[in-house]
Amino acid sequence: MKKKWIPVVIAGALAVTALSACGKKDDGGSAGSGGGGGDLTIGVAIYKFDDTFMTGVRNAISDAANGLAKVDIVDSQNSQPTQNDKVDLFVSKKYNAMAINPVDRTAAGVIIDKAKSANIPVVFFNREPLADDMKKWDKVYYVGAKAEQSGTMEGELLVDYWKAHPEADKNKDGKIQYIMLTGEPGHQDATLRTKFSVQAIEDAGIQVEKLAEDTAMWDRVKAQDKMATFLSAHGDKIEAVLANNDDMALGAIEALKAAGYFKDNKFMPVVGVDATAPALQALSDGTLLGTVLNDAKNQGGATLKLAVALAKGETPSKDNTGFDITDGKYIWVPYKKITKDNMNDAK
Ligand code: BGC
Ligand code: CA
Repeated sequence: MKKKWIPVVIAGALAVTALSACGKKDDGGSAGSGGGGGDLTIGVAIYKFDDTFMTGVRNAISDAANGLAKVDIVDSQNSQPTQNDKVDLFVSKKYNAMAINPVDRTAAGVIIDKAKSANIPVVFFNREPLADDMKKWDKVYYVGAKAEQSGTMEGELLVDYWKAHPEADKNKDGKIQYIMLTGEPGHQDATLRTKFSVQAIEDAGIQVEKLAEDTAMWDRVKAQDKMATFLSAHGDKIEAVLANNDDMALGAIEALKAAGYFKDNKFMPVVGVDATAPALQALSDGTLLGTVLNDAKNQGGATLKLAVALAKGETPSKDNTGFDITDGKYIWVPYKKITKDNMNDAK
């Protein structure tokens, strides 16, 4: 487990007074950075550190914390029981707020109960708790992005390509024969990107035929394996690959390369979501057709600012977070379509 401490630069008098409104941090033990009683500490649990996109969000949280609060960022190692233990630890250390990226989003209710009984506000991010759980307490917030928007954009990227490239319809039947690589079952982004990407294609008046769909759990290596299997089953019938995230798109591209694609005029349109650094590289290499910016920087920044406002006992608003609060509890960070032409927008 890796811990990251960001020293407090501005020990604001504001924070000192506001502390009385919330749980007071225990300055002893492992929380110690000698910052004095006015420090705010936010406990942050990531579902697993070994996730490309979440690494971006994690770094954005630490960057945003600079000068505002200390953050204790922990790895839940893809285990909900481990994460629950981490939350218990945050509670026992009397942290001022928590920011949780749930392993299992349906487990948020249990975390909310713990937070509420300790009166420690909690901000969830990236994995959206069920609406009923969100209603359990007024100091529960969520920062994320509208999954259906990313799905729609992904579909539109493929539509643009299809319309500009008649040769993409290899068997000339007017339909896109596609492969779908999905993220983790139960994740809102997996379900909605799968649905809305295909819907956007159909809404553009293009018929589709799904050749295969399977989960690769957001994972590059798993996606490469699945894609290799799909290639041996369907070969040249495949006309496009839709992946719920960039890591899986990149895994698919590896399998396609091994099957002779991306050279000698053999191309396959592959689209992903996230706009991670390796995906931008693939865009510039001309292997990845397009992706959708999942704005890690703003999602991490919003999560931290929301947690700090709550830790100070303030009511979150655009003034103290920099983001609009929707329905009293949500910050939605917009997605954006990214191709080789506007890659700089994603950096
Ligand atoms: C991202 C995935 C990531 C997942 C983690 C999604 O929003 O697109 O890359 O693995 O969040 O929960
Ligand atoms: Ca076709």
